[in-house]
Amino acid sequence: MNKLLIVGSVAFDAIETKYGKTGTILGGAGTYIGFAASYFDLDSAIVSVVGNDFPQEYIDLLTARKINIEGLEIDKEGKTFFWRGKYHNDMISRDTLETRLNVMESFEPKVPEAYRNAEVVMLGNLHPLVQLSVVEQLTSPKLIALDTMNFWMDNNWDDLLRVISKVDIVTINDEEARQLSGEHALVRASQVIQKMGPKTVVIKKGEHGALLFQEDRMFFAPALPLEEVFDPTGAGDTFAGGFTGYLAQSGDYSFENMKLAVVYASNLASFCVEKFGPDRLLSLTPAEVNNRLKSFIELTQFNMKLV
Ligand code: AMP
Repeated sequence: MNKLLIVGSVAFDAIETKYGKTGTILGGAGTYIGFAASYFDLDSAIVSVVGNDFPQEYIDLLTARKINIEGLEIDKEGKTFFWRGKYHNDMISRDTLETRLNVMESFEPKVPEAYRNAEVVMLGNLHPLVQLSVVEQLTSPKLIALDTMNFWMDNNWDDLLRVISKVDIVTINDEEARQLSGEHALVRASQVIQKMGPKTVVIKKGEHGALLFQEDRMFFAPALPLEEVFDPTGAGDTFAGGFTGYLAQSGDYSFENMKLAVVYASNLASFCVEKFGPDRLLSLTPAEVNNRLKSFIELTQFNMKLV
């Protein structure tokens, strides 16, 4: 069984959308990545930090999904990372109202001995120097993917470029790709990002699907049109967990297989947005995943006679 090492925030979130407002709930990029990856036959582990206020029942949710938590540090001196965001009525754009790094500020990740040889590594959205430190602890990675966000581009630009130069894949959303590359057209943006180091770039466009670029090859997968998006939080991370989980399970890192990974990832992300927080990912059954994959195939199949 291949190993997937996940690095990312395990956090408290407070979310507001047009459908309502949550109190403090379980969140974090690492959490969503882990839950998404748990749909695959994998040996996955998470490296992160939480504070003394983090409930055991949330930790139990991770272990119940067979995610190894040896690398999840509990900092008894501090409080858990907290993020508060409010979505606009389009349910795509959002304002970050509060980011309290708390224990994340001084986090020094320690990759457990047993996972230093992980085949696939998903560096979720976190301080770029934390991501870099994880990369430096790996012994024989076959594929390293990285996600990031505008917060790190605004505050830690040079560190971000350093870690990006060491990874194989960047998965980011369209606005972040534009900010990172300085290019508006996404094809150009992907070319600029590839010059920074990663051979493959995945650009997530929310309800407009996802684009996969590798050298002169390009692939597009739509997002499944949904009647209602309840809370988009974590959809990008769910995508990242689905994408790397699929690749790690198969052990096939070819462009053709990455196309399937993008579809699988889009499928998982479409469930994430149906409820507040990660709840929907926890109640999902393999039959539901398969049925929606069938809808994906039907959505994109057509027969056209070329003259
Ligand atoms: P997404 O909607 O996929 O962009 O991810 C949302 C998740 O990212 C939330 O659960 C937050 O806890 C987490 N998050 C937001 N800002 C940061 C940050 N600066 N560093 C790490 N995680 C973050």
